[in-house]
Amino acid sequence: MASNEVSVRVPAKVNLQLSVGPARADGFHELATVFHAVGLHDEINVRSRTEGSGIAITCVGEGVSEVPLDSSNLAWQAAALLADTARLEPDIEIRINKSIPVAGGMAGGSADAAATLLACDALWKLDSPRSVLDRLCAELGSDVTFALHGGTAIGTGRGERLTGVLAQGTFHWVFALAGVGLSTAAVYAECDRLRAGEEVEAPSVSESLMQALRAGDPVLLGKSLRNDLQPAAFSLRPSLKRVIDAGDEAGALGGIVSGSGPTCAFLARTAEHALDIAVSLTSTGLVRSVKRTSGPVPGARIS
Ligand code: ATP
Repeated sequence: MASNEVSVRVPAKVNLQLSVGPARADGFHELATVFHAVGLHDEINVRSRTEGSGIAITCVGEGVSEVPLDSSNLAWQAAALLADTARLEPDIEIRINKSIPVAGGMAGGSADAAATLLACDALWKLDSPRSVLDRLCAELGSDVTFALHGGTAIGTGRGERLTGVLAQGTFHWVFALAGVGLSTAAVYAECDRLRAGEEVEAPSVSESLMQALRAGDPVLLGKSLRNDLQPAAFSLRPSLKRVIDAGDEAGALGGIVSGSGPTCAFLARTAEHALDIAVSLTSTGLVRSVKRTSGPVPGARIS
């Protein structure tokens, strides 16, 4: 690849547990979550512009009509933030090739931000320390830091404070994709509405989940999946309950709405078992498409 361009591959995430605490004074919720990076990737290519100035974005792939191409794109914001920190003019073209479902609860925008940060850092030969990149990620959004790190990790605070998890083995997943996305802000607002008047406990990650990851035990992991946003996602999109039930009937070890949804994640025993579940889900006609993959996978990497 020419030295005036850099490509980065970055994975999607699923939250194996998403424990949502009370809303904080700044409007965010205190979280305890276990992020798990899976093999659905966006590819970002950043190159110096030969004509014109400033940041230009193009995007190809699935659901791209929903992806903004202006300064509201998280990839744009990542490039602008790094340029500002390094005091340089960002005259670049960012090409996004999307495979991560847009507004699907798999942190696609956050992944693009992390990938752009890494790509621009290499393109501009800044060689920023990891601690600086982590700080910029946290400024860009709650899920961005994890997209840079990948693997399996506990996230606290808004999700941006990461601790690595001792995890063994590979887990096989089936993702059921929906045709129309859900807004993360709307799902959190619905969660608050459903819990109004209730005492909300401090968020926590269960010991059974940690044990499942330490042992590489998919059966225990399937039983330990939990997402506090799921009732809110069901309330806004009642058909999701039917998708989770269909995965259960198809023999999944566990099924969960991914993050704020509407993508649903199902855990399988093996790659063959994942294929069976994918075929069953497809035949229900309830989902737009299914993707099979595994995790954990590494975070954003120059390709
Ligand atoms: P979350 O990180 O909250 O789980 P999500 O995975 O549900 O988010 P994204 O794919 O990140 O959803 O997109 C949410 C919205 O962000 C989109 O509807 C789009 O308008 C906007 N957006 C900004 N930048 C991007 C990007 N690079 N890719 C996709 N969407 C983006």
